[in-house]
Amino acid sequence: MSSPAAVDLPSVWQREAAVPATRWGDVRTPTRVDLAIVGGGLMAAWLAYHASARAAGRWTIAVLSDRALADGASGRNAGFVLGGTSELYASLVGQLGRPAARELLALSQTNRQLVRTVLGPDGGRAEYRETGSLYLGASDEGETLANTVRWLVEDGVAAESWPLGRVPSSLRSLGLPHAAFFPEDGAVQPVQLAARLVHQAGRAGVQWYTGARVNAWTAQDEAGVRLAVGGDHVLAERVVLCTNAWLGQLVPALARVVRPTRGQVLATGPVALDYPYPVYADHGYLYWRPRPDGSLVLGGRRDRDVETEATDVLALNPRIQDALTALAARLVGGPATVAHRWAGIMGFTPDHLPLVGPMAPGLWVAGGFSGHGVAMTGAVGDLLAQHLLSGAPLPPSLDPARFYAPA
Ligand SMILES: Cc1cc2nc3c(=O)[nH]c(=O)nc-3n(C[C@H](O)[C@H](O)[C@H](O)COP(=O)(O)OP(=O)(O)OC[C@H]3O[C@@H](n4cnc5c(N)ncnc54)[C@H](O)[C@@H]3O)c2cc1C
Repeated sequence: MSSPAAVDLPSVWQREAAVPATRWGDVRTPTRVDLAIVGGGLMAAWLAYHASARAAGRWTIAVLSDRALADGASGRNAGFVLGGTSELYASLVGQLGRPAARELLALSQTNRQLVRTVLGPDGGRAEYRETGSLYLGASDEGETLANTVRWLVEDGVAAESWPLGRVPSSLRSLGLPHAAFFPEDGAVQPVQLAARLVHQAGRAGVQWYTGARVNAWTAQDEAGVRLAVGGDHVLAERVVLCTNAWLGQLVPALARVVRPTRGQVLATGPVALDYPYPVYADHGYLYWRPRPDGSLVLGGRRDRDVETEATDVLALNPRIQDALTALAARLVGGPATVAHRWAGIMGFTPDHLPLVGPMAPGLWVAGGFSGHGVAMTGAVGDLLAQHLLSGAPLPPSLDPARFYAPA
């Protein structure tokens, strides 16, 4: 890694935008709410957005975040808005069967529509563009990638197998022999997306608090759930824990299920790339995207130091950052100036699918997005809002009970 001066822990997205909220204790804080959402990331923001719109003034809604809004994974990711889940579609079909895989695929399609609707046709400040995305597969990914393309097309989603000759020449030298293009995918500035949601939900009456660490919850039979927030208490009719990598801190039954996992990212200064779309590669261990300002955001390579990265400590990993710097140079055809480096904490589940559903009377969880939450939280937020308001069903494949025996 170059000089310590080049080390910056806030992401490039956080440096460009902040998401305003009230600090817990600075104003008179609520003691009773209809819905308390714990967390300050995209899951909390989307749920607040949908629940406030669907409840249309009938519910008081408070969002309680220990840190600044979008300071978890949501402000530190790569901003890819992809189809499906974190697995290639053929792997997901192998894991769940076709109908359940199709249900999750549809969720990601809805998610993109929601991002488009919230940000407006030009993507607004969040620079959302549906440029498509390229996947470059390693030598053992050929069959999975070919089946992914075939089954996506059968299920009504655009996908193309690309001969290597169609891959930009700067990428062919990476030695990844299989390529597929997914024309519907896009990428976003995730903090600007969160800011937009917070603003919209704020106008619908949602109260946003930072410095509001929830230390414990207690189900109160008919009365709802009592939350310990710092030294205060809030009684909520219903609570949704959107704490992603940190779900296990509040729900011991999930402590062994959701594993905090760190990811490393860097952003370069302006470089010249001859393609406009995000690229995913090598079993998903590498990803990069050109931004409209000409810079490159590049992350991954966790496979180089899996053990060290199994942590929720926010820090740079020099070994991985060095590997990313070397890759940036290959991608731009010469030394690249690294403008920002950062890390973020993801929450991984054993099957790489999130946990979305009830945990206790009055208490739900939505987290463990396994490195793929930008692509799902919008649609999951709407499903959950409908579930809470009218009992609409949630996808069985995401039920947290698949990992523990409900009492
Ligand atoms: C390096 C990296 C790259 C990624 N790239 C992509 C990508 O390109 N595309 C994609 O789809 N996904 C990507 N992801 C994953 C994506 O960012 C996450 O899945 C998504 O942001 C999850 O949102 P969330 O709101 O569930 O979690 P988070 O954003 O992590 O939010 C959890 C929140 O809970 C709060 N919290 C925790 N405990 C408490 C408590 N006790 N009380 C109050 N608040 C608490 C935290 O402060 C935090 O705000 C990436 C993640 C990382 C780290």
